[in-house]
Amino acid sequence: MERLRVLALNSTYDESFIRQVEMESGQQISRCYQCGNCGASCNYTCVYDYPVNQIMRLIQLGQKEVVLSSRAIWLCAACTACTTRCPCNIEVTKIMETLRVMSLEEGTVSLKDVELFYKEFLRSLKNFGRVFEAGLLPLVNLRIGRPFNDMELAPLVFKGRKIHLFPSFIKGRKEISAIFDRFESWRRKKEDLS
Ligand code: SF4
Ligand code: SF4
Repeated sequence: MERLRVLALNSTYDESFIRQVEMESGQQISRCYQCGNCGASCNYTCVYDYPVNQIMRLIQLGQKEVVLSSRAIWLCAACTACTTRCPCNIEVTKIMETLRVMSLEEGTVSLKDVELFYKEFLRSLKNFGRVFEAGLLPLVNLRIGRPFNDMELAPLVFKGRKIHLFPSFIKGRKEISAIFDRFESWRRKKEDLS
């Protein structure tokens, strides 16, 4: 039987967490009135530890540790269904992305394989301007110690030309790379100030 997790809300309340999420996502967390539309729209609720509407509530309650170590923020596919259906026009997807970045900064990522995939995905994007899947997937497999993970799918994806054997370099590659550099320099400045 699944165990019920009881949170000691008062002792773990962290108001600065709420302010930080609001500032970095540009969203007003207090506008959420728990209608549940976002959770009901999310295709991944079945694998989340907390449905996305509960993540919103936990932020309102200043539950930094629970939120930043949750599986939900890393299993979110950024599909934007929650954002589209929020009656308060809250960009929930942006909040989930903000939480992922905060979780990386705090070193509280609960799914290490997903963290590795996330970092390699962004590195590939920075290097090629678009993700080079044929290079990314074997690299991630090697690094997680499962080199033949999903290899049976390779003939299918190559036959269907879903992914290409060689990277394609897009026109605005330098500009995309510069976005990453600007973000890194902003992050370093933020660390220096804290
Ligand atoms: S953006 Fe994330 S949380 Fe929102 S519906 Fe999609 S998968 Fe779920
Ligand atoms: S859809 Fe919007 S208002 Fe409703 S629970 Fe989700 S974030 Fe809150």
